Parts: sequence; C-alpha cells; structure tokens
Amino acid sequence: MHELGITQNIIAIVTEHAKGQKVQRVLLEIGKLSAIMPDAVQFCFDICAKDTLLEGAKLEIREIPGLAKCRQCGAKVLLEQPFGICNCGSRELDLISGEELKIKEIEIEEICV
Ligand SMILES: [Zn+2]
Repeated sequence: MHELGITQNIIAIVTEHAKGQKVQRVLLEIGKLSAIMPDAVQFCFDICAKDTLLEGAKLEIREIPGLAKCRQCGAKVLLEQPFGICNCGSRELDLISGEELKIKEIEIEEICV
C-alpha cells in the first residue's frame, strides 16, 4: 500500500508549514489517474496524524478527473485510465490533468486573543 508513504509525506509537509501550530483542515487534490486511492489516504491519515500537529484535523480530498487533449482534432477527452481514445479515433492524447497530488489548502488553528 503506497498510500502510507504518500500520507506520511503529506503530513511531513503540512507539519513544516504549520510551524508548531495545530492544523484544523487539509485539502488534498488527487487526480483520478494518479493510482492513489483516496480512501486509503484517508485511512492512513487518521493513523499517521496521531501525536502530530495534524491530530484531529479534517482531511478533505477532492478528486480531479482525468482530462486529455487530442493531438489530432484538439478535442478534450475525459479519461478514467491514463490512456484512451478520442472520438476521432486518435490515440495521441496529451494529458492535461488527472495525475496530480497536491496539498491545496492548509488551515491552521487561529488563536483568538
Ligand atoms: Zn481527436
């Protein structure tokens, strides 16, 4: 399960950004073609976040659909896999999105005075 390593990386990056403050919410973007299972990341997050600044933080995952542009006719093609075929019959597709793994937002606990 490579999601465990990925999740540990995410937690390490967020911890660095948090600079010692509690993290309330993390928004992740995971591309559908990235072969990363959002459910598995969520599961690992709950375990790995224990005893870190992210303990109790809400992990939100936004799935980014796979999208490619056809080199032949320029049409946009939605992809469920990292390969596909355009309506025009061409298989020469340039991926636009769907492979990303991004930490989109980090919400740090505000300390009210
Ligand atoms: Zn085409």
